[in-house]
Amino acid sequence: MQKMTGFNCTRLPGGVYLVFQRFADEGAISRSWSLSGRGAPKLSLSVLVQTRDEYYGPPGNRPPGLWKRVLRAVAKSNGRTTSYYCPDLPPSRSGIALAVPRYLATLRWDGRRWNQKVTEHLKRPCPTCTAAGWRQAEDAT
Ligand SMILES: [Zn+2]
Repeated sequence: MQKMTGFNCTRLPGGVYLVFQRFADEGAISRSWSLSGRGAPKLSLSVLVQTRDEYYGPPGNRPPGLWKRVLRAVAKSNGRTTSYYCPDLPPSRSGIALAVPRYLATLRWDGRRWNQKVTEHLKRPCPTCTAAGWRQAEDAT
């Protein structure tokens, strides 16, 4: 189970907010920093650190040829990434991921046009968005 173990929100000049979140579970800790402002693109950096046991499996019970699997996982998880927000919206939230064993860093940005599409979509959210609890920012107080 993932638990939020840290949160900090800093207001920067120009109405820009820097939000820090830290999540932890038994095998991994993730930290994320995101920068957002009114009408500005949102930028976020997240870093995931996994324990040795979580990444390689329990000691003494690690599968043979593990280095090949690790190498494949590293090759696969580096490069450009896109994430899906909702099936009705294009997957245009993009980013770059950098992975080495046990560490994964992801830099993401949400474009202004994409943010506007989301805002428009959330005025009449589809069942998926409603079920996920996504609402317009103004209503989410
Ligand atoms: Zn939707």
